[in-house]
Amino acid sequence: MFKEYLHLASLTPFQKDQVKKFNNDSNIEYKQINNCEICQSSKLSTLFNNDRYGINQKTCICDECNFIFSNPRMKDRSIEYFYNSDLYRLMYSGKGILSEEKLFLETLSQQKKYKPSVPNKPNFNFHYDNLYFDFINSEIKEFDSVIDIGCGAGRKLIDFNFIGKKTHGIEPSKTYHKVHVELGLDCKIGFINDISEKYDLVMLSHVFEHLTDLKKSVKKLHSITKKYLFIEVPGHVKKLQSIQNAHNYYFSLNTLNYFFLSNKFKLIKIDYARDNEFIYALYEKTDKETKFFFDKSSEKKIVSEIIRIYDSKYLIIKLLRSTGLEKIARAFYSFIKRLIKKKDSKNCPF
Ligand SMILES: [Zn+2]
Repeated sequence: MFKEYLHLASLTPFQKDQVKKFNNDSNIEYKQINNCEICQSSKLSTLFNNDRYGINQKTCICDECNFIFSNPRMKDRSIEYFYNSDLYRLMYSGKGILSEEKLFLETLSQQKKYKPSVPNKPNFNFHYDNLYFDFINSEIKEFDSVIDIGCGAGRKLIDFNFIGKKTHGIEPSKTYHKVHVELGLDCKIGFINDISEKYDLVMLSHVFEHLTDLKKSVKKLHSITKKYLFIEVPGHVKKLQSIQNAHNYYFSLNTLNYFFLSNKFKLIKIDYARDNEFIYALYEKTDKETKFFFDKSSEKKIVSEIIRIYDSKYLIIKLLRSTGLEKIARAFYSFIKRLIKKKDSKNCPF
């Protein structure tokens, strides 16, 4: 296994400089994780020394069950510092630093132009923005109140309002909150621990992988869910997902199921988009204890195949780089990809 993560995002010289500063920033403190959150094993191996931006964030794998997570991980204080830093906005907005005012105006104008549509049959052959909506509505009908945790600009609330549900959102960004107010959406500033009401359907989209202490988080989610819980995360099913320092965990279908099905949730359905392998899972709350058999050996088979594929790609890229052919090969590869792709797939937005 090669510990250098190669699939780097292309960065401007300014962004590279910011990463360098971040890597040498003495305000960033890390803490060591000693045990796997699934099997409690202390046998953890480093998988990568860096993320897709070149940030010195290590990713490890549990030797016993092959759960993949960041380790050592930024301390809570440092995580807060990171999310408030220019670097976070630079890397994740994709457009460079936007002023608060510009972000507000751009987001508001996008949301005003947005036209929601009624749900259709979900198509997991490729990822599209409304796949989540088609998936949820094809599986469940009996729900009225909905909360979207980390609701961003509030797009999902607009979708569910359109079909007559009572929606609520919670989001830490003050800029997005201004957008919610303008649009008349029922949202407040905050995060999971600020929720005390219960909702028929609780949703987290590209949020669960950013949390820490997952069993405690699932307990909190259980306490605010009346009926259903929807989770969307980046996943690995046949290929390794993108490694980035804001993600604390990298889920497969099995490892995601483990956290809910052994903590008082029943599975309604789990599936994944075949192109970018985002996982969509819908669970039903139960008050009985549940036990999920986590099949370590089948998980190990899946993950070792993913790593084998990564290692082959690593060797090919290294070879192309040493012969100066990487740019040509990449251009050819993206040309072929465009030819066979029906719609643009997305990488994780956060
Ligand atoms: Zn483990």
